[in-house]
Amino acid sequence: MAADETPKSGQAKPPGTLRLKIDTDALAKNWQALRSMGGSAQAGAAVKANAYGLGVDRAVPALRDAGARDFFVAHWCEVYDVARHVPAEQISVLHGLLTPQDAAYSKAIVARPVINSLHQAKLWLDAGGGTCDLMVDTGINRLGLPLSQIGDPLIAKLDIDILLSHLASSDEDSPLNQLQLSRFGQVCEAIPARRRSLANSAGIALGKDYAFDLTRPGLALYGGVPRGELAQSIRQVAFPQAAIIQTREIGRGDSVGYNASFTASGPMRIGTVSLGYADGFLRSWGAKGALMHGGARLPLLGKVSMDMIVVDLANAPELAEGDWLDVPYALPEAAAASGLSQYELLTVLGSRFSA
Ligand SMILES: *Cc1c(COP(=O)(O)O)cnc(C)c1O
Repeated sequence: MAADETPKSGQAKPPGTLRLKIDTDALAKNWQALRSMGGSAQAGAAVKANAYGLGVDRAVPALRDAGARDFFVAHWCEVYDVARHVPAEQISVLHGLLTPQDAAYSKAIVARPVINSLHQAKLWLDAGGGTCDLMVDTGINRLGLPLSQIGDPLIAKLDIDILLSHLASSDEDSPLNQLQLSRFGQVCEAIPARRRSLANSAGIALGKDYAFDLTRPGLALYGGVPRGELAQSIRQVAFPQAAIIQTREIGRGDSVGYNASFTASGPMRIGTVSLGYADGFLRSWGAKGALMHGGARLPLLGKVSMDMIVVDLANAPELAEGDWLDVPYALPEAAAASGLSQYELLTVLGSRFSA
């Protein structure tokens, strides 16, 4: 069956065995907390990568209703989905322009490119120009106009709404933060723009000096805590859950899963859970990981498979097929347990979760 064909039976899709609960109230409160930490600055929202894996359709309306007016995506292909919820002129595309087609698409859909180089500035001006944003690289050496080129006549021709730069080490106490702040101050004096923006989530916690006119939180909106100062104000947003699809009794000497990496030392009851690395539950969770049921901790046994993991049911003997387990996803703790970054934990979540 081709991907765009639906079964003709008229039968609704069955409920499924993976859920991703999104606490949109926590999401809105996180945005408001970050917004007020920025003092008089407005707060936007980074919603790239499908709102960090949580789903544009759930995240963007909640952020919009909380008051966000500036949305950042990385790719042009992300604009359309966000623009179903907010006016396209409130969307900035961080990767900017690579081809004249990008410029034509930008004009047609009326989302703004973030111009990152003289090449991009020329593409935009050749396409007729119009309001854009401009990223200047103040030290991350990744994307953005080098400081040595800010005086170029092409830049003077741009009609700039947001002038931005991005911090490399805002989640650390690094001298690079202060250096980027002072360089950005110089950039702001040299380049006229309607609004100035430097801070991501962690940058907001560095203090009001970093907030300028507009902040660009991402991770912390979705429950990430990149700096300790944010721990008290940021609440968990994403709550993955997976169902048990089989239970069994095994005995001493029986092994579990691929390569028999766990062997039982005595009789035990185990549960096979519908969650695997294809869903973003990567093998790095390994032997230290556990799922939860109420207060009961259910340690992982053996290797993570593509679609399944196996847990020890000793601490919750009443559990049976169809019961739901919580995947521990408080991001700072989950990052420590899995070795993944808080960003990775969110963005690897797969497409088989339902609401
Ligand atoms: C992703 C991104 C952000 C958001 O960063 P967080 O660390 O997730 O808050 C802000 N600005 C730019 C340019 C980005 O690429």
